[in-house]
Amino acid sequence: MRKGTPSRLRPSASGAGAPGKHGDRAGGSSTMGEFELIRRFFDRGPARHAELGLGDDCALLSRRGPDTTLAITTDMLVGGRHFLEGTDPEALGHKALAVNLSDLASMGASPLAFTLALALPGADEAWLGAFSRGMFALADRFDCELIGGDTTRGPLNLCITAIGELPAGSALRRDRAEPGDDLWVSGELGGAALALASLREPHPPATGSPALGRLERPEPRVALGVALRHLARAAIDVSDGLIGDLGHICDRSRVGAEVDWPAVPLAAGLASVAAARRPALALAGGDDYELLFTAAPENRGSIEALGRAPAAPLRLTRIGRIVASSGVRILDARGVAMPIDASGYDHFG
Ligand code: ADP
Ligand code: MG
Repeated sequence: MRKGTPSRLRPSASGAGAPGKHGDRAGGSSTMGEFELIRRFFDRGPARHAELGLGDDCALLSRRGPDTTLAITTDMLVGGRHFLEGTDPEALGHKALAVNLSDLASMGASPLAFTLALALPGADEAWLGAFSRGMFALADRFDCELIGGDTTRGPLNLCITAIGELPAGSALRRDRAEPGDDLWVSGELGGAALALASLREPHPPATGSPALGRLERPEPRVALGVALRHLARAAIDVSDGLIGDLGHICDRSRVGAEVDWPAVPLAAGLASVAAARRPALALAGGDDYELLFTAAPENRGSIEALGRAPAAPLRLTRIGRIVASSGVRILDARGVAMPIDASGYDHFG
């Protein structure tokens, strides 16, 4: 905590974006200070992997070996921008960590640890309990431990920094795609964008309901990222929409790409929307957190085998290719470029 930061978080009527009723129920929590809050909701005792976890000025993390590289990533979720106030806190805990683990996955790193910087409008115990439950449930699945953070009062803001590791030289970087590479994507696209669109309808699904699962509970493709270390060349996770994210690979690798629209795997829900709406949902909708990667054609068989792994079957689809000329082109069934209004997909447009 910085000097001058109020060290007490009062329970606010609106809670941390949760329905207000829980704030008052906290009762004694009007005296719950920052340190008690950390102890109750985030401190799970001695670190398992880190030399030193939370409780000191820094966490201490030993290097696992001389030939490993650390991968470090930060993603912030801001209330009102990345999620609606009132979003199920358990889902938020999941997503705040999931988007970071997805970044680790897209580099081929396996998760080690993370820190959590939290700004909260108040100390709402029910909200904090659900948030930490959602976050730790995901963390435990990947044996990734919380080693520190910061807690302050302010508009709801969740910022996680995740640390992963991988063998030196094996990272799946955006700048490694080569002309002639196949272009692959995991899972299905458009499901999160469809869920987001449903929130604007007259009778939106309730937060936390399965209908919003693809939006609220993305699954980081950690095992796939690790398995791709020696099979893929470049990779990125699809957080801002396929066209935009593929554009990042192309820019960094100084190449272009062609996507065969009929080959793009669509989320099941897209079957029930007008065909004309599907490209925007699947190609420009964000938040799917699937992995988009390029690989040499000689690795096709190995990559197809990966997708059939009995432990965790995951659809892997070849959707196009990397080309020498710059730009991303979407081709229809006849191989003709489809008019895609790129400006329509700019978050700042
Ligand atoms: P400092 O004053 O050194 O910044 P703080 O008083 O902010 O330390 O935090 C005390 C300890 O609690 C530190 O080890 C910090 O990493 C940890 N911590 C604070 N907030 C969180 C949080 N939201 N999640 C996990 N650990 C936290
Ligand atoms: Mg601090």
